Amino acid sequence: TGVFTARDLTKVYRTGEVEVRALRGLTFEITAGEVVVLLGPSGSGKSTLLNIMGGLDQATSGRLFFKDLDLTTLDDRGLTAYRRRHVGFVFQFYNLVPSLTAYENVALVTEISENPMRPDEALALVGLEARMDHFPAQLSGGEQQRVAIARAIAKRPEVLLCDEPTGALDSKTGIRVIEALLGVNAQLGTTTLIITHNAGIQEVADRVFFFADGRISQEIRNEMRRAAA
Ligand code: ADP
Ligand code: ADP
Repeated sequence: TGVFTARDLTKVYRTGEVEVRALRGLTFEITAGEVVVLLGPSGSGKSTLLNIMGGLDQATSGRLFFKDLDLTTLDDRGLTAYRRRHVGFVFQFYNLVPSLTAYENVALVTEISENPMRPDEALALVGLEARMDHFPAQLSGGEQQRVAIARAIAKRPEVLLCDEPTGALDSKTGIRVIEALLGVNAQLGTTTLIITHNAGIQEVADRVFFFADGRISQEIRNEMRRAAA
């Protein structure tokens, strides 16, 4: 069943006289529980797509459904409600509150969610149960990013959108962060999109979208992953 259905989705940024066609007609479907990786050069439209799928930005034309909900018809309030209820975000920078422990950083979110897991449950899902009482400065970059992942999933979102979650990490640490995302996907079934330059991820994703100049120029489907899982 489709979680996202995009039809001829476009995005044009206008700044004064200048027009940037960031998305030039994307059509795709993403199924519940899939891990989809977005690859491609800087400026090819990956972040723009993720922002629109996460309700942070509006498309210019075309349709984008989240299940039965047409995101392209929602106003800002509708998008905010969609985002709060259904979407978790992970970015390159962790944005943890430095004066709060890992546990408390996650609790900030669980306290305002409808059906959250406990902060310690969320941290256990990313392998950080032993680090709950540490402050961000006492954690490595990879551990801080795993706290950010725990914070993103603690409200049990159906969708997890990750924009270069490994961008600030060395490749070995980056792989551990990717493994944490795959572990969450395996245990919770969260539909997950990841923008990353980390080599090796192509084999562990269900699908890879290759972006070029605002289009999906190629798509790889990895039938082996589900079979192996
Ligand atoms: P990346 O290549 O890592 O995705 P970008 O440099 O494309 O990063 O974008 C970083 C941020 O800057 C994004 O939030 C994007 O919306 C914004 N941005 C990118 N290009 C422009 C631009 N030409 N004008 C205004 N904001 C931009
Ligand atoms: P990627 O994530 O693949 O690096 P982006 O989606 O960030 O690509 O950017 C796609 C294109 O849209 C680029 O040409 C970028 O400069 C432009 N862009 C992104 N955000 C903005 C913005 N807020 N305002 C104007 N142009 C933007």
